[in-house]
Amino acid sequence: MNQQMAKIIDGKATAAAVRDEVALRVAALVERGITPGLAVVLVGEDPASHVYVRNKDRAASAAGISAHTYKLPAETSLPDLLALVATLNADPKVHGILVQLPLPKGLDEGAVVRAIDPRKDVDGLHPLNVAALSMGEEGMVPCTPAGCIELCDRYGVELEGARAVVIGRSMLVGKPVAQLLLARNATVTIAHSRTRDLAGVCREADVIVAAVGRPGLVRADWVKPGATVIDVGINRGDDGKLCGDVAFAEVEAVAGALTPVPGGVGPMTIAMLLSNTVDAAARLG
Ligand code: NAP
Repeated sequence: MNQQMAKIIDGKATAAAVRDEVALRVAALVERGITPGLAVVLVGEDPASHVYVRNKDRAASAAGISAHTYKLPAETSLPDLLALVATLNADPKVHGILVQLPLPKGLDEGAVVRAIDPRKDVDGLHPLNVAALSMGEEGMVPCTPAGCIELCDRYGVELEGARAVVIGRSMLVGKPVAQLLLARNATVTIAHSRTRDLAGVCREADVIVAAVGRPGLVRADWVKPGATVIDVGINRGDDGKLCGDVAFAEVEAVAGALTPVPGGVGPMTIAMLLSNTVDAAARLG
């Protein structure tokens, strides 16, 4: 039998399209005298965080957003960090504030996230934004989960009435992506490390979102033929290359549509951050 291969969901191209749309919205706001401003706060020397922040800064500037990165030493005290957040909250030129996580050990991430003005919380992690998402109210939606839904929408993946299985229940990805799928009237199961018969649970799904951090966890026989598989995982494989949570080569032969790693959900995260910043600028003026 000649098995049709999955449609590859191109996150790189989709993110470029979103960034172009953001740039148009920025230009329209600039005409009204509003230049969207993004402040990124980076504490410490974590190399991966430095790369992420540089990419965010570049993408924001390319879209016409006024981006500024505040680099603080790892020894920064919580009061000093909170004072910077308060200054940014009060600055009318700053519409979006992102504190790059993880923070160095000893700094209370929850306290820092709670200190950000929820209207400027472009990461969508403030408890008021988390509550808004679960209540189905307007708020700032976390970037990676928003990117997963955007990919589904732009590739015509039917969510209404679909059975969706989200593997992972983190505050950053699993839970918000499940809320977003529920808001789109999918029937959602959240699976995690204690889920019994994860393979069987996944086989029921029309849409699988894998947000775990285990290379190749999702195998071909976990996937219903024709299902959509969104791979959020970012891992280093044994060969040193980036890979996702999905055994791509074998799942490609079963799924209907599939995101690659790299080039799938990853690029969408920054695109949605820019989109959130422009939304905030439009609301705050
Ligand atoms: P996390 O906080 O470590 O959460 C991982 C989740 O996976 C937990 O809920 C855990 O279950 C579950 N899990 C672990 N092992 C499992 C197993 N064997 N079977 C089923 N579930 C299992 O990670 P995260 O922050 O959500 O990130 C998940 C992945 O996405 C990571 O690879 C991360 O690098 C990637 N990520 C990518 C982007 C992007 O831009 N593409 C953004 C953020 C994160 P328990 O709750 O039971 O422990």
